[in-house]
Amino acid sequence: DGVLLSEVRRPCRVMLLVNPQSGKGQALALYNGPVQRMLHEAGVPHTLFITERKNHARELVREADLSQWDALVIISGDGLLYEVVNGLLEREDWEQAIHTPLGILPGGSGNALAASIHHYSGGPLVSSEELLVSCGFILCKGLVSRMDLTSVHLGSGQRLFSFLSLAWGFVADVDVESEKYRHVGAARFTVGTLVRLASLRVYRGRLSYLPADDDGDTGAERGAIPTGGGEHTFRNTCSSNNALNTKRRETPSLYGPADSLLPPADGPVPGDWAVVPEEDFVLMLAMYQSCLAEDLRAAPDAALDQGVIHLMYVKAGISRASLLKLFLAMEKGTHLATGCPHLVYRRVRALRLEPYAAKGLITVDGEAVEYGPLQAQVHRGLARMITG
Ligand code: ADP
Ligand code: MG
Repeated sequence: DGVLLSEVRRPCRVMLLVNPQSGKGQALALYNGPVQRMLHEAGVPHTLFITERKNHARELVREADLSQWDALVIISGDGLLYEVVNGLLEREDWEQAIHTPLGILPGGSGNALAASIHHYSGGPLVSSEELLVSCGFILCKGLVSRMDLTSVHLGSGQRLFSFLSLAWGFVADVDVESEKYRHVGAARFTVGTLVRLASLRVYRGRLSYLPADDDGDTGAERGAIPTGGGEHTFRNTCSSNNALNTKRRETPSLYGPADSLLPPADGPVPGDWAVVPEEDFVLMLAMYQSCLAEDLRAAPDAALDQGVIHLMYVKAGISRASLLKLFLAMEKGTHLATGCPHLVYRRVRALRLEPYAAKGLITVDGEAVEYGPLQAQVHRGLARMITG
């Protein structure tokens, strides 16, 4: 059920963004070692940008002259790509800008998208080092595919875009609490999960969703990337950006596609939405790619460009042992088949979450966002990702 994709001769003029603080703080060393070697051997010219602070990459991408770049590639965890995606969608020329091919080389502790892309390419579960090599090959090969993005509206009216996950409850707490274990790399999520299991709690709120009424394969945007008759290469992509105005206005959330599936935030959900009867949860996790972490295949049926949000929630009342079993089964992606009565899985297009408590944690792509009610909808194939 692949989509795409046009072959690229070779990526050129890559903007390579490195977060020196990600993971164990090794991203720059990875660049100076294996990454530079691979890019050199494959003849991929690139310019290195080392981020100096959070949101630096977001600002660079928001202001960049995209006619100078054929691809934007990050060496970091998912958080840096989250900055890049949102930077592109905060531009006045977002519609063209978001077509810039994006690439990811795992250099962080949370490398879920890199793991997902490796998984889609048919690769087995691998160590972090092998994952980097696999993603390096994928980057040098340079195939471009469409990738879904989910638009998330927060209570304050702010909107942001997500390529991976939206989490509340147990998973969001682990995302944030495990940041202090970043020095252990990808194992931070295992440590965080065990710590959280010891203080397992219930999260109260209302969850509603718009079911996906089909297998996700009828989206209007389905199909190969239009190439205008020519070969789809990074260079072609780039030249289509040439004439664009890259000026920025002050209200970033003005930009991006309209969210036609979402009702007004202060009104009820439409009649074709489902409201979950339970109000006591242990976790809610919405995924649009397969891996939640390097070794957690949380949405085993997810693919890059399905136009589907894989919504999972675990109802309160689950025992610690059963929850641990679910996370262990997630390594192979078999948790949905365990028959756990507390776990519910739905394929949806949009969702609304209304937490009852005034305080708590919600994460988007592993990054903590403003806590409170939110709505989200998937936009099929909005972004372009370099994949295997
Ligand atoms: P990890 O997988 O280790 O979490 P991420 O790529 O997610 O790595 O980055 C972690 C956080 O660091 C993100 O919130 C990102 O926005 C932020 N960040 C990016 N560059 C820097 C920097 N130079 N210094 C500090 N934080 C940064
Ligand atoms: Mg992160």
